[in-house]
Amino acid sequence: MARGLKGGKEWGGTGRVAGEEKRSVAHDSDSAAAATSDISRVVIVGGGTAGWMAAAALSRFLNNGRRQIELVESDAIGTVGVGEATIPPILNFNAMLDLNENEFLRETQGTIKLGIEFVNWGRQGERYLHPFGFFGQDLHGISFYQLWLREQGRADPGYISDYCMSAVAAAGGKFGRPSQTARPPLSEMLYAFHFDAALYARYLRKLAENQGVTRHEGRVVNVHRDGESGDVTAVELDGGRRIEGELFIDCSGFRALLIGDTLGVGYEDWSHWLPVDRAIPLPTANVGSPDPFTRSTAHGAGWQWRIPLQHRTGNGHVYCSEFISDDEAERVLLANLESEPFADPRVIRFTTGRRKQSWSHNVVCLGLSSGFLEPLESTSIHLIQNGIQRLLALFPDHPVSPLERDEYNKGMSELYEDIRDFIILHYKATQRDDTPFWRYVRDMTIPETLERKIALWKLHGRVFREGFELFGTTSWVAVMLGQNIWPDRHDPIADTLDEGKVAKAMADLRERYRAAAAALPTQEAFLRAAGAWAAEDVRPKAAVAP
Ligand SMILES: Cc1cc2nc3c(=O)[nH]c(=O)nc-3n(C[C@H](O)[C@H](O)[C@H](O)COP(=O)(O)OP(=O)(O)OC[C@H]3O[C@@H](n4cnc5c(N)ncnc54)[C@H](O)[C@@H]3O)c2cc1C
Repeated sequence: MARGLKGGKEWGGTGRVAGEEKRSVAHDSDSAAAATSDISRVVIVGGGTAGWMAAAALSRFLNNGRRQIELVESDAIGTVGVGEATIPPILNFNAMLDLNENEFLRETQGTIKLGIEFVNWGRQGERYLHPFGFFGQDLHGISFYQLWLREQGRADPGYISDYCMSAVAAAGGKFGRPSQTARPPLSEMLYAFHFDAALYARYLRKLAENQGVTRHEGRVVNVHRDGESGDVTAVELDGGRRIEGELFIDCSGFRALLIGDTLGVGYEDWSHWLPVDRAIPLPTANVGSPDPFTRSTAHGAGWQWRIPLQHRTGNGHVYCSEFISDDEAERVLLANLESEPFADPRVIRFTTGRRKQSWSHNVVCLGLSSGFLEPLESTSIHLIQNGIQRLLALFPDHPVSPLERDEYNKGMSELYEDIRDFIILHYKATQRDDTPFWRYVRDMTIPETLERKIALWKLHGRVFREGFELFGTTSWVAVMLGQNIWPDRHDPIADTLDEGKVAKAMADLRERYRAAAAALPTQEAFLRAAGAWAAEDVRPKAAVAP
């Protein structure tokens, strides 16, 4: 099942990190003769989501009383200020940091996310949910969704999403946090969060500073390197202040100051597969109680997100500039908002792809400096989290071992490629032909890895998860079926179960999900009762009704 989407189960959690912290032996041929020592100074460049996530986690796990963690950021430059939807492994990150979930939601004006509703993606006028969690329960070892496929044509089993706890709760706007001892079907409800990116960074900053991180305000104007090894030795701020370190974390966003500008690590451009390259974000006032899901609505040359928070709704149009102008993209966005925006539109430009190496010399890049796959499946914050957890699991000595660095790069490369393929699927699996953009993505060639996955699915509806792929069976099945990619046949093994018994078990299951969701409070009622609803109204003045 969805390894990455089962919050708390991946990456070995905190125990593995603690066990790996202390090393004193050189592992690589380069440094076999050189003495190694503990890294005593870590410098994080950038204070956006990536920078403060890294600062909060590193200060929690690497504080041995001698190691210093410093963060440099520039208020004058600011952050990208978007990135507000997450996926369930964020629960694992919160647990690592020992966050109180109610406090975290309050401080970030956060809400619950049970999945993503896709509108107009397969065909115009259609919608489906990509939920977190699982479809039904397997019977006698046979995947539930295969039995559901078998029922097509025999009976009316309803939508596949009728058999998923998170999906049924999302459809009703409901939520209840499953306790440690919860039983099915409630225990099957997986969730993540929506939050305000600026408040999230502020929250983590407080945590990191309490854990001993030193923040330096200023613009990095120069980077110093060792003449022999080429390693970065210091960053220099305007005014001449130097911050020295042994390990540098580049969280400088799209600028990629250290990994790109200084070390010259190239960028692998994937825009032929993921052609959207611009976004216009615009917040609006809430028009009702927030829905516990993200919505992605496809337009003529891209798509629009809707992320409901406690104090506002985040919206944005992500589009491909080859097929639509900025002015037209802004008009489309404005025409599709539920209420008046309270910020000025701005265009964010990006190129989808990834840094060829996430770790070069003694610089590890996290966040937008390491790549960007577009926000369709809310995977960027997960990539940051995963990079941090991987770094903790491979935390180096000084000088860095190429063996550990290579292992890090291999893992990050694979993760990027897995996510890339899953996002491309949404475009490739469209039946839309109403605009040149949709015809382009429908007809484009795709990576061989994805071609193979689609071909296997088309034969018998089979999904094979390789290695540590983030998205599991539920995700692939949801998008394939949601966008009308049906297999030619179901898995013949599903025919071995008695028809009558299967039909009855399915009807019972469906009723159990319905009844369990009906008994839950709305998400707002849940958040208020749990003390997770912020008392403070942090909306800008323009957003508050007179
Ligand atoms: C349109 C859009 C929508 C997105 N939606 C999602 C989403 O829903 N879910 C998700 O997971 N991700 C999303 N993302 C990605 C997410 O926004 C980023 O992964 C996340 O915000 C991390 O950004 P960052 O910290 O790398 O960069 P930034 O936020 O840009 O931070 C860069 C930092 O570097 C500092 N800096 C830069 N240059 C210098 C310098 N010379 N000197 C000193 N400091 C410097 C800046 O001051 C800043 O503090 C989205 C991205 C975009 C573009």
